[in-house]
Order: sequence, then C-alpha cells, then structure tokens
Amino acid sequence: MKAIILAGGRGERMGKKTLNTPKPMLKIGGLPVLEHQINLLKRYGLKEVIILTHYLSEVIEKYFKDGRDWGMKISYFKEKEPLGTTGGIKEIANKLKDDFLVIYGDKMLDIDLTRVIAFHKNKKSACTLVSHPTSHLEDSDLVEIDKDQKIIAFHPKPHPSNQYFRNLVNAAIYIMSPKILRHIKRGVKADFGKDIFPKIVRKEKMYGYLTAEYIKDIGTSARLIQVQKDYQKGKISRLNRENKRRAIFFDRDGTISQASYEIFRPGSFKLFPWSAAAIKKINESEFLAIVITNQPAVAKGFRSIDDIAAIQCKMETILGEKGAKLDGIYFCPHHPDKGYKGENQKYKIKCSCRKPKIGLVKKAKRDFNIDLKHSYFIGDSFRDILCGRNAGMTTIGVKTGRGCQDGDAKPDYLFDNLSQAVNFVTSFKKAIAIK
Ligand SMILES: [Zn+2]
Repeated sequence: MKAIILAGGRGERMGKKTLNTPKPMLKIGGLPVLEHQINLLKRYGLKEVIILTHYLSEVIEKYFKDGRDWGMKISYFKEKEPLGTTGGIKEIANKLKDDFLVIYGDKMLDIDLTRVIAFHKNKKSACTLVSHPTSHLEDSDLVEIDKDQKIIAFHPKPHPSNQYFRNLVNAAIYIMSPKILRHIKRGVKADFGKDIFPKIVRKEKMYGYLTAEYIKDIGTSARLIQVQKDYQKGKISRLNRENKRRAIFFDRDGTISQASYEIFRPGSFKLFPWSAAAIKKINESEFLAIVITNQPAVAKGFRSIDDIAAIQCKMETILGEKGAKLDGIYFCPHHPDKGYKGENQKYKIKCSCRKPKIGLVKKAKRDFNIDLKHSYFIGDSFRDILCGRNAGMTTIGVKTGRGCQDGDAKPDYLFDNLSQAVNFVTSFKKAIAIK
C-alpha cells in the first residue's frame, strides 16, 4: 500500500518557527514530525511514500531525497498553488491504482497501522477514517457511525446548541480506494473533511476506525510543546495498541449520573456535578475511561435502543463541553426474567454481558488491548463489584446511587463518590506501572 503525506501547509499559526522550516519538519525529540511518520510507515511494512509539498518544498526534498537512507522509496509532488487537502492527490491520481493511506504532515501519531488496514479490508470499505473522541468537542467536525462502524453522517462545527452528538472526530488519517478521487474536481481547492466526505457519505461505503492511540496535530505552538512533552515522557509510543493499557471502568447510573435507574428520556439524564472533572482527570492520566452499564429497561420494553443512544449522546456532549471524554461505552440491553407485559422478547435472554457477567469487559479488553489485572472497576452496586472482581480487577465502591448496599459483595475500597475514587487510583498510577 502506498502512503501519501500532505506536507504542503504553510503553518501560519506557528509564527517564526515556520519562517525557514515547513511545519512537518518541526522537531519532536530531535526528529522532524515527518520523519517520525516515515519511521512509523516503515515499521508497519509500507515501503512507498509520496510527499505532497508546497511551502519550502526544497527543505523536505533535501532532507529525505529518494528515501534510500530510510529503506523507503520516497517521491514528491510539489503543488504550484495550494489546493487544500484534496487537490494534490487528484493531480497524482495516475499513480494510485490500489487503495492508499493518507496522513496529514502535521500529525504526530503512533498507531497500529496493520490493524487499521485489516479493518479497512474486512469491511470492504471504500474510505476508512481513523476516528477518536476529542477533548474539544464544540470546535470539532463530528463523525456519526452506526453499530457496524459505518459512517452515516458528518456534523461540521458549529453544532446546534439544542442537539446532542456522540463524541467522535475524524483524526485526518484515511485509507481510500482510488474511486474516491472521482468525487474531487481537478484544480479546485477543497478539503476532504469539509467538502468531500459530507457529500459522498451516502454514495460510498465509509467506515470509522475507532482508536484511543496517540494522534495529535502540532498546528499551534502550544500543541507542539504539548506533543514534545508527551514524547519525552514516552507517552506517544506507549499508547500504541500493541502495548497493553490499563483502564478505569465505571458504571453509569448511580456512579457518574443520578440514580434514576429507569430514565426514559435523555431530558432526565443528569451527571453528578463532579463527574466531568473526574473523567477529565482519567483522560489526563494514561488510563482509559470506559463505561459499562446494564440497561434492562430495553428488555422490559420501557425504552428502545435508540433511546439508549440518545442518552449516550447527551452524556458525551455534556462531558465534551467540560473537556472530558469516554474512550468506550458498552451497554447490556438484556434481562433474564421473561413473562412481563410489554416486554421486548428479543432482549429477554440469559446473556453473557449483563453485569456481574463480564462479556462487555471482555469486549473492551479486545477492543483496546487492556491489562485487566492492573485495571479498576468503580460502581455503586454489588453487580459492579462482582463484575470487576470476576474480571480480575481491583474494585472500588462509591456511596452514591445504591451505595454498595444492595448486596453482599464488598469492594476492595469504598469512597464517597467517583471524584474521590479517581483521585485515589490516579495518584497511585506510578506505583503500579506495568511493563
Ligand atoms: Zn446482555
């Protein structure tokens, strides 16, 4: 598979830093961002790279030459005038006979590319967008996916204030079939995210590949400094999915939100006042933040799967407004006891995902490559505590909601609320670092 790196940007927002250096040549840990990208491509077996340049093209070409020093085949296409993210690719369409990978040259990333490529192939996708939740929801263009991860809509900013969205953004790493190029007009300045994808989402099979790996742009001086810090700490490579990660799992109703266990409408869903700050604290650590929730009201016929999705959107939007994000949200719609009026037969089953069973934890483990032994489960019910214990985690009870008074299971630790529980876990994160 060929890779295309979009490295033509001027980097106006970087001030003097980009006067003599194009943005992709700014250094992280002594190496240009572009070189980190090329090293990543090589590591995952991609051998051929086309770099699209414009601003200070000669600096890039002089540095990488034909790529031989990196064991890669590198060529260049210099755009005479900048044509957004699409124009240069259209110009080299004759070199793109098979599916290809696109990376924006100002992205610092360390992701398992083998897995992204396999996902693209398995889905028979025409265009796969690497996507992730963001901590700045309101100024992001959002992607909407269905349960098979097929992209069904784009929601560019600004978002209407009376609507809730799932927190998912396009990370600007794509795998594309050449047939996508027929939607691009030659010589017209355009952007994939804003101009092309929203128009073709109903015409082409597009999928979102979800990840919690490190992908950040260096578009402003503040972001560049943050990425440099993360690099020094080793965080960027540590978050690659090939490495096991630790997670803080938590329950929803009674743990992060008020304990109305039969919420019918998103309107009545309310987070505890401390929940967003606590989840943000998890985001700033290297723990994943994952919700595991039983929603038997679906089986009981009180609400639909769409209601659950709507509440999830509200939860993610409120958290996003406060700079907090959830890496994963998993729910069980089932309930085992049959024979009630109005119940939804399809979900009245003995499933393997209703807590204290660990089906959903196991799914999260597979999705994110989680080290359960060094992970935590926080909840207000004996079901949470048993689920965490059954999965081999350390368990933490909270006194909100059911307050762990609804059964005999004793948690390893008990705190007043989620905030205290998260403070406890994140302050010990260094003491139990994993290899
Ligand atoms: Zn279930």
